[in-house]
Amino acid sequence: MIAGDGIGQEVIPQALNVIRVSGAKLEFTEFDWGADRFLRDRTTVPPDGFAMLGRDFDAVLAGAFGDPRAKTNIHAKEILLGMRCKMDLYANVRPVRLLDATLCPLKGVEPKDVDFVVIRENTEGVYTDAGGVFKQGTPDEIATQEDINTRKGVERIIRYAFDYCERHCKLDGAPRQRVLMCDKSNAMTHAGGLWQRVFKEISGEHPQIETRHMYVDALCMQMVRDPRQFDVIVTNNMFGDIITDLAAALQGGLGMAASGNIHPGKTSMFEPVHGSAPPIAGKNVANPFGAILTSAMMLAHLGFKPEAEKIEAAVLEAVKQRKTTQDIGGKLGTREAGEYIASLTCRT
Ligand code: ATP
Repeated sequence: MIAGDGIGQEVIPQALNVIRVSGAKLEFTEFDWGADRFLRDRTTVPPDGFAMLGRDFDAVLAGAFGDPRAKTNIHAKEILLGMRCKMDLYANVRPVRLLDATLCPLKGVEPKDVDFVVIRENTEGVYTDAGGVFKQGTPDEIATQEDINTRKGVERIIRYAFDYCERHCKLDGAPRQRVLMCDKSNAMTHAGGLWQRVFKEISGEHPQIETRHMYVDALCMQMVRDPRQFDVIVTNNMFGDIITDLAAALQGGLGMAASGNIHPGKTSMFEPVHGSAPPIAGKNVANPFGAILTSAMMLAHLGFKPEAEKIEAAVLEAVKQRKTTQDIGGKLGTREAGEYIASLTCRT
C-alpha cells in the first residue's frame, strides 16, 4: 500500500479499513513513497523498488501523487508512471458507473444509462517522454513530443478490450457486447492508421462482438449527449486520460471513479482516478468512495469476489441514503463516510 500525497493519505486508510472488515484475508505492507519522503531524502523510488513490488506482492493499492512543495513533481512521475511503465501495467481499466441519478449532471439520465468501461493503453503514446526542447528560451524555441505506438502495444490493449468485453457483465447482469475504438486517425494518420488496422484485424477474431469507431472529439460530444450508447471503449494513453475525467463527471465527479492498472498474470496496481487534490487535502472533505471502489476492484482481481460485491453494495446503499461527502450531496467528512461504508460492509 502506498497512500502517497494529498488526499491519498486520507482516502487510502478508509479503503484499507473497508477491506479489513470485508473479511478478505490480505496482508498489507505500507510504503512511504511520496512527497514527504522525497523532500526528506530525495528518494522517489528506492533502488529495486519496482522489481520488489513485482516479486513480493500480489497487488499494489496506491493513493495519489503530487505535492505543491515538490515543485517539478518528479517523484509523482517516477512513482506513478514508473509503476505503470516499469511494471508493464499496460491496461488501465476505468469503469464508469452511475450509482444514483442524482449524481449525474445530465438531465433524465438513470443509472442503467451510464455503465461502461474505458480501457486505456497505459505504457506508450505521448507519455513516454520521447522528444525534446531545442533553443529553449529563445524566439526560435522548438518543442517536440513523440507519440509512440508499437504494434505490440496496440495489439495487446485492443485484445485486452475484447477479452474484457467477453468476460464482464453490466451492473444489471446483462452481458457486455460492444467494443468501440477511439482515436484521432483523421489528423494523426500514422499512429491512427496502426490502431485502425489492428482494431479491424482483432475485430475479425470476435465476430459476436459489435464494433464501432469514433474520433475522440466526437466521442466527448456523444458521451455528454447520450452515454447510453457506450459499453467498452478502448483508446490510447492520452485520450484515455482525458475522456475518463469527463466520464468521471457523469458518475458524480472524480471522487467516485475507480481504476486498475493491469497486466494479466503480473502484480497489478489499483488507484482511484483522482489525483492528490492539494486544495482540499488535509481537510477531511475528500470523497473516499473512488478509493473504496478501487479496493473492491482489487479484491475482485485477487479472487475475493464476494467481498468485493459486499463493498460495492455498501457504497451503493450509502449513496442512496446520502451518507456521503459534500461533493456528492452529503454532509459527512472523509473519515465518517469511510466508517459508514465499513459499518455497512460488516453488516452484510
Ligand atoms: P492529476 O493530474 O494528478 O490526476 P488533477 O490535477 O487532475 O490531478 P485532482 O487532484 O484529481 O486533479 O483534483 C482536481 C479537483 O477535483 C480537486 O481540486 C477537487 O476539487 C476535486 N476532487 C478530486 N478528487 C476528489 C475527491 N476524492 N473528493 C472530492 N473532490 C475531489
